[in-house]
Amino acid sequence: MLIPPPLCRAVRCDDLDEMTLDEALKELSRTDAVEQIGPTIYAVPYDFKRVSPSMVGDYEYCPRLLWLQAKLGKKLLTRRSLIALVRGRLLHERYERVVAAADEVLAEYKVEIGELVGVVDLVFKRGERLVPVEVKSGLSSRSAHVKQLQIYIELLGAPFGYLVYRNKVDRVERDPSALDILREIKAIVESPVPPPKASSSRCRTCPFKQICNKYS
Ligand code: SF4
Repeated sequence: MLIPPPLCRAVRCDDLDEMTLDEALKELSRTDAVEQIGPTIYAVPYDFKRVSPSMVGDYEYCPRLLWLQAKLGKKLLTRRSLIALVRGRLLHERYERVVAAADEVLAEYKVEIGELVGVVDLVFKRGERLVPVEVKSGLSSRSAHVKQLQIYIELLGAPFGYLVYRNKVDRVERDPSALDILREIKAIVESPVPPPKASSSRCRTCPFKQICNKYS
């Protein structure tokens, strides 16, 4: 297999589109000690001791949110992000089962360099080269997806990688500066003091503001 197929061309997607909160909670509780910590906020244990590219999304949303979660040792979820997390995991499993059945494709490939660790969804072996493939269950591209993949590209010494979305596949080129963001994340999660608050417009609509306000 030279290029990975779009997610929903390889596996069925539509049966998970209407997943309810109760269904998602039931599924998540099979693998994670999920708890409700606010009227609409949930949390699952998460290891922030090893810096991982998957923290890029939270860092981009708000560095202070990343710090809060590291302090709590928990990944915070809204109802919507909890459902998206579960749906994404199930779609990942389906896709990896299909695509990793091909020769020269490795699933859940762990890459570690020093204190940096990440688990790449899929790695395509092309001779001596390892090409990382990240699967995203949403429709649209986000800069955090690109940065996360560029970190994997650097950690694997690959020339490029692929981002798989529901209906498209984007090729992402190498950018050595991507590792800088990982160093910034490490500094935040290890800091004894929280980063400053985000802009007032972002905080006004932030679902985590009650938890955030407990820290000065
Ligand atoms: S309330 Fe503001 S500073 Fe706190 S986590 Fe949300 S966006 Fe960040």
